Amino acid sequence: MSAKPTFSHEISNLMYKSHGNPTKSCIQCGTCAGTCPVAEYMDQTPRRLIGMINANLKEEVLASNTYWFCASCYHCTVRCPSQIDIAGVMYAVKRYSIWNKSYSEDLVGPAFSEAFVKIIARSGRSYEPILAPTYMFSMEPKEFVQEAFNATKMMLKGRIPVLPTRIKHIKNFQEMIRRIIPIGGES
Ligand code: SF4
Ligand code: SF4
Repeated sequence: MSAKPTFSHEISNLMYKSHGNPTKSCIQCGTCAGTCPVAEYMDQTPRRLIGMINANLKEEVLASNTYWFCASCYHCTVRCPSQIDIAGVMYAVKRYSIWNKSYSEDLVGPAFSEAFVKIIARSGRSYEPILAPTYMFSMEPKEFVQEAFNATKMMLKGRIPVLPTRIKHIKNFQEMIRRIIPIGGES
């Protein structure tokens, strides 16, 4: 009987599209943490998160906000001396946490990602009026009012459509993405 894969193996398996080296080749140099433009908002630096994955600290990794704050800028990936695709690791942990529904409830990222994928699956285009409520209610009242004001102005100027639009041949597009990702509730 084959042994159950460890958490770090599961994350590696989710990185099958990545051309980088495995996370086990991390030398903990800290270049990724020093490079990351959003590290100050993360509760664990990218360096620490890689170390935690390698140590199979599954619950601690999934409870972290680090991978939700990752802006996918790829600075860390191009600078890593061990050629690990760190941005790819962040995506892999996101996928893992969404599929297992294991993430902190107070984060905006999971609801935003789910809404985004559903909108794209339905129409092939992003639509801000549906996406915005996933993060606007976490804002301070002043920011909320400013954001709503800006959105209304953009809508009046035609920069945001009043109704969602669909791409041509949406059925073909939906068939294509249905083969790639399981989309809850979409048919
Ligand atoms: S830059 Fe690469 S080798 Fe250095 S700590 Fe980050 S992941 Fe590890
Ligand atoms: S890809 Fe993510 S983790 Fe890497 S530097 Fe950019 S924001 Fe930071």
